[in-house]
Amino acid sequence: MAVSHFPGRDPLALVPEDCGRGHACQFCPEEEQCKLDKGQHEKRLIESRLAQIGQIIMVMANKGGVGKSTVSANVAAGLAAQGYRVGVADADIHGPNQSRFFGFVGQRVRLGKQGLPPKDFEFFGLEHPVKVGSLAFMMERDDTPIVWRDAYKHDFMHHLIGSFDWGPLDFLVIDMPPGTGNELITLADMLEGHDVAALLATTPQEVALMDSLKAVRFCQERGMPMIGVVENMAGVTCPHCSGHFHVFPRSHLADALAAADVASVAQIPLSLALSSGSDTGIPIVLSEPEGPEAQAFAPAVDACVAHAKAGFADAAKQSLHGLAQASLESDELEQALGAVPPEQRDALRQQLESLLGNSNEPS
Ligand code: SF4
Repeated sequence: MAVSHFPGRDPLALVPEDCGRGHACQFCPEEEQCKLDKGQHEKRLIESRLAQIGQIIMVMANKGGVGKSTVSANVAAGLAAQGYRVGVADADIHGPNQSRFFGFVGQRVRLGKQGLPPKDFEFFGLEHPVKVGSLAFMMERDDTPIVWRDAYKHDFMHHLIGSFDWGPLDFLVIDMPPGTGNELITLADMLEGHDVAALLATTPQEVALMDSLKAVRFCQERGMPMIGVVENMAGVTCPHCSGHFHVFPRSHLADALAAADVASVAQIPLSLALSSGSDTGIPIVLSEPEGPEAQAFAPAVDACVAHAKAGFADAAKQSLHGLAQASLESDELEQALGAVPPEQRDALRQQLESLLGNSNEPS
């Protein structure tokens, strides 16, 4: 009988113990001989990563070229500037650009004991570094094209969340690839049951709007909360006279968002500083915090914080209510009530029940 190379483990167990390695089986030197349940291992690995992450924000566009990566990088940096622990997971397999936005072009990561270490982006004034995980850190060369079938993409989505050692995070911002295909479905399935919300990036052109509305529909059909839409390229400020004008008419975008019941949370101008910002390796909300671009991103960052806080408050309330309900039904409570004079007992019980009832009402 083949014996597991892990002493003390039962190779016949249906759900064997996890090997405890902080990476996916595909990276494992033991993979060929390993008798453990690899599917279970990877599931646990992902769950253990996600258990340390507060709010996940999927930045979606459904269309390429609308500035989704710019939005992801700047929203992540804006959250970090507010003191939050933030990670950026670059899920754009064919255009992993987050390494560029955070100044890690050409850098690679090596598998460690706890998995793949994300790159730490440090900047003056940040309490915590922004942790960046990207396929770009594992490619042979920066210009290597990714020619993968869906099964590989599916696996990479699992590596992105499970194999990178994200550690405890308040926010994980996921820079999604365009489209509502394999990567989005894989991640949406994997993250079900966790605090996930979508932030949509779009531009006012009709063709971008049409694709964006498909992403809205995807979220609505999946029951994924939407934080709102970041309108990119929303107007230009003339560098000579400082006059502001719109290159694309906005009215149809505003109407379509209102009809889809989605809020516009920020309008980002078309600006030279922003379009060349990715080359500096520092998101513009950090390099020019007082500039018009950073000011334009601020409401999107605040909307993410507000969404997360509302979610945390709801979860805390439900958990408190569960605790109180359990106490109300517990023997200890009955014993405690036994110590109360009989004539006051019913009144006290009613008060407790009324308190519990109130805690169910929305604040
Ligand atoms: S192949 Fe997978 S389950 Fe087996 S030891 Fe390696 S990481 Fe663990």
